[in-house]
Amino acid sequence: MRLLLATRNRKKLDELRRILSGAVTVDLVGLDDVPPYPEAPETALTFAGNAVAKARDGAKATGLACVADDSGLTVDALNGMPGVFSARWSGRHGDDAANMDLLLKQLGDVAPPDRKAAFVCAAAVVFPDGREHVVNGEVRGELLTRPRGDKGFGYDPVFLPDGFDLTTAEMAPEQKDAISHRGKAFRTLADWLAGQIS
Ligand code: IMP
Repeated sequence: MRLLLATRNRKKLDELRRILSGAVTVDLVGLDDVPPYPEAPETALTFAGNAVAKARDGAKATGLACVADDSGLTVDALNGMPGVFSARWSGRHGDDAANMDLLLKQLGDVAPPDRKAAFVCAAAVVFPDGREHVVNGEVRGELLTRPRGDKGFGYDPVFLPDGFDLTTAEMAPEQKDAISHRGKAFRTLADWLAGQIS
């Protein structure tokens, strides 16, 4: 069976491919492998809402079962923000350095016990026959005051996961995958898919 992951990010594709390979036999393809279709902007106010909308679009446009994910950083002291606005927190979509800089400034007066945060991921799958399923993954941790590490992306250099001395930007990719919000969501989704696809 062909399964579409609604992303152009090869690393995300490889990650889901690795996780699925232990659970189900599918031919996983990305947006660059299917004819282009109009992609709706991410306007929902929840991770699940955005993930489901993207998966519905992909299934409708291609006739393939489609997986999509949406993720971000939720900061306790900011009542869960930046949340779904994580990629555009500073106003410019995808400007990781500006987003992280703004967040650090906003938390300038917040001391370590109150700098708790979580990376959260919702992953959805929609089948052309209308079946839908959404799962979530989360990794909790604390935000440092200064960036450490040059791997990963986004807020990784300031995120210290609970129980680790390394930020997610100091971890090898496999180590991050093993504990990450996306890794957890994708593994839960792979288990669910295994029960649906024979
Ligand atoms: P996306 O949904 O994977 O595109 O992620 C949206 C935004 O959330 C990214 O642009 C990052 O700012 C942030 N984010 C999501 N996952 C991670 C992560 O694993 N590390 C660091 N930042 C992340």
